[in-house]
Amino acid sequence: MDPDELVFHPWVRQGPRNVPTFVGGSGSHVVDADGRRFLDFSSQLVFANLGHQHPRIVAAIKAQADRLCTLAPSHASDIRGEAAQMVVDVAPAGLGHVLFTTSGTEAVEHAVRMARLHTKRPKVLAAYRSYHGSTTTSIHLTGDPRRWASDTGAAGVVHFFGPFLYRSAFGAATEEEERDRALAHLEQVILLEGPSTIAALVLEPVTGSSGVIVPPPGYLRGVRELCSRHGIVFIADEVLVGFGRTGAWFAVDHDGTAPDLLTFAKGVNSGYVPLGGVLVGDLVYRTFTEAAYPAGLTYSGHPLACAAAVGALRAMHDEGTVAAAARLGAAVLGPGLDGLAAGHPSVGDVRGIGALWTLELVRDRQEQTPLVPPGATGEANAPMAAFMQACRDRGLLTLVLGNRVHIAPPLNASDADAAAGLAVLDEALAVADAFVS
Ligand code: PLP
Repeated sequence: MDPDELVFHPWVRQGPRNVPTFVGGSGSHVVDADGRRFLDFSSQLVFANLGHQHPRIVAAIKAQADRLCTLAPSHASDIRGEAAQMVVDVAPAGLGHVLFTTSGTEAVEHAVRMARLHTKRPKVLAAYRSYHGSTTTSIHLTGDPRRWASDTGAAGVVHFFGPFLYRSAFGAATEEEERDRALAHLEQVILLEGPSTIAALVLEPVTGSSGVIVPPPGYLRGVRELCSRHGIVFIADEVLVGFGRTGAWFAVDHDGTAPDLLTFAKGVNSGYVPLGGVLVGDLVYRTFTEAAYPAGLTYSGHPLACAAAVGALRAMHDEGTVAAAARLGAAVLGPGLDGLAAGHPSVGDVRGIGALWTLELVRDRQEQTPLVPPGATGEANAPMAAFMQACRDRGLLTLVLGNRVHIAPPLNASDADAAAGLAVLDEALAVADAFVS
């Protein structure tokens, strides 16, 4: 039996899988057991931001392993303090402390718990087009169909529409109109739910796996203002976009604003050892100088994970990785994907920023009918499955979610690798074009 069949796999029906087994990697490539190289155009699940086997991160983990592999959170650790300092140094103003977790979902759980304890209010607002993790609170916050199977309807979460001009919920014609109407809608939701019942608003400042949606300038500042006015804790979920993915250290930086709490994971150390966290702003921090924070994790600030963060963040500073991501998007990926859209009728929309992009595939450009319906599986998902297989057959790893293909190479991918990936997408889109009506 293939040992992979002994593994219980997240998100999929269990049973044998026809997938390559990976045994190595370097830079933007991973290598399977047959020696075949694959270009990683998704940085795995959008976390290997510095690519594979980056020597600085590997060396940092090895050095810490030789010194002290593990330590309880109750003891002070030099490497944990150093990681916290490096995270705070690049964080938006006012976010001066870090609770370390081992994943993104834990970061979201803790941020919401902090907000509820701080405000003594029960409810949390989140966007319909969002993904915040798959544990109890975070899956309820998640707005997209991944929530459906787990939704008990009793988590104190209220969903709202964020700005998304391509499929505007507000009938807007311009980004400015979309922003203003989305903010007016959010204000109505807050007023009708009752501001005194709302602890927090959780928002991906650039929506990641639920659509790669970049908000219009001013939207995040508007959200910040609404939260401040109503005493609501603004939680920016930067698990996917933080640490350079959008071409800025944090996505909120693009709009010149700062949340009260900021969740992160993935890019903080390129996922070499599991690490996440909550950046805690002064307001919420003060609450827990008066009363103990009533929660914790055995592996909070694990030394090997923190060492990987120190190695990754040093490399990002020295190699100018954040600026490289901005350039990759503006000079290579953006124009390249626009070029593909011009030649392929199945591409309904191209969106993105920095090293995070999506192609939204449609049956009909005019009607914007998705190539597969939301939550499609099996036969209903055949067009996207065929597209994904065409990519894999040509040695390209992509992330296909619903009717979208997400493009998120390592931030330090070379122009040549980016061009090679775009060339494969060009061929695979011909497969998707065959389903256009
Ligand atoms: N929040 C966002 C925005 C994410 O994209 C993810 C994962 O993709 C999570 C939270 C959950 O992170 P994790 O899978 O590490 O629990």
